[in-house]
Amino acid sequence: MSSATDSPLLAHIKRRINVSGPITIADFMTEALAHPEHGYYRKQDPFGRAGDFITAPEVSQMFGELIGLWAAVTWQQMGSPPKIDLIELGPGRGTLMSDALRAVRNVPGIGDALTVRFVETSPVLRTHQQTSIMAYGIPATWHETFDDIPTRANVPAIVIGNEFFDALPIRQFERGEKGWAERLVGLDAKTGELGFVRGAETPITDALIPVTMRGAAKKGDIFESCAPAIAIADQIARRLNETGGGALFIDYGHPGSAFGDTFQALKGHEYHPVLSDPGDADLTAHVDFAAIGRAMNEAGARTGAVLTQGTFLRMLGIEQRAEHLKTSADDTQKTAIDQALSRLIDADQMGTLFKVLIAYGRDTTPPPCVSGVAG
Ligand code: SAH
Repeated sequence: MSSATDSPLLAHIKRRINVSGPITIADFMTEALAHPEHGYYRKQDPFGRAGDFITAPEVSQMFGELIGLWAAVTWQQMGSPPKIDLIELGPGRGTLMSDALRAVRNVPGIGDALTVRFVETSPVLRTHQQTSIMAYGIPATWHETFDDIPTRANVPAIVIGNEFFDALPIRQFERGEKGWAERLVGLDAKTGELGFVRGAETPITDALIPVTMRGAAKKGDIFESCAPAIAIADQIARRLNETGGGALFIDYGHPGSAFGDTFQALKGHEYHPVLSDPGDADLTAHVDFAAIGRAMNEAGARTGAVLTQGTFLRMLGIEQRAEHLKTSADDTQKTAIDQALSRLIDADQMGTLFKVLIAYGRDTTPPPCVSGVAG
């Protein structure tokens, strides 16, 4: 079954399927991204121009700076509490947090109030994060999961996640004649290579699919669900209600739940076949912000209407920030600032595809940029 050219991780996945049958896409993603030895996020630093993809904080310092200011105003609107947990989910290289801390450190009182909490599973990236924020002298702790973060009495939380939810494992269900069949990863009988197979079709509509979408489904429609994202959204909502606080999630995705196959791989800044090279390509799926918002609302937290990244960054004054940076820049730097600005906010770049969801505790003043309350 496995061939001599298979990586150790591919050989391991094939063996697993051989022994116990096809696996869910979620199991495949977990192996590919989080295998303790060979997982994509466990063994390398995937970011930047030399990596497989580039994220907004790596495009420009303006991104982290403005998110830092969003967090500082959220803190002030809570009455500047003496202690605050600034929690970042999946912080990558720590670039966003470093830019945020630099931007806010002169806000009176905030330096003494802050404890930074990173939720990060990758040892390699934890080291990067530590180095990135060392200069600011703010206490920081690292946690495997959001739930591992201790809740301290009277200490509100500000939670930030950029491109965190898209890395969490999804399952896919395809509409058939009678019901829904799970799309699974199996082995092609002839070639022995990984391929998609359909699980048994069940006449019972899967409980994961929102009631409003069940009737609209046509044969071949694909529904994606991300149970870990829903679980984390629920935990965050409970924390926001218990201690007060706000959360900001930025990711590519859709504002409303919709059918479609968004499972994708990126390698060397190019789209890549999803089942090739597990452990050596980044795997993601679009984030269903409606599902995350619903989970948070069900746990009692409030959410704002989903914004595009372009709208959100403009509301925070990114154009003015770019103009200000250009006053002390040479011509080459000015061009770079303009390019970064358009990359972050233009509709044909990251401005529209990326969405922003803001949530806050039921007793918390709405944070900046909550426009139109969704729930
Ligand atoms: N926010 C960063 C990185 C995004 S990539 C940026 O914008 O540049 C996804 C990040 O989430 C990485 O840091 C990865 O190691 C982390 N990650 C992925 N799955 C995770 C999980 N289940 N729990 C915690 N962190 C995870």
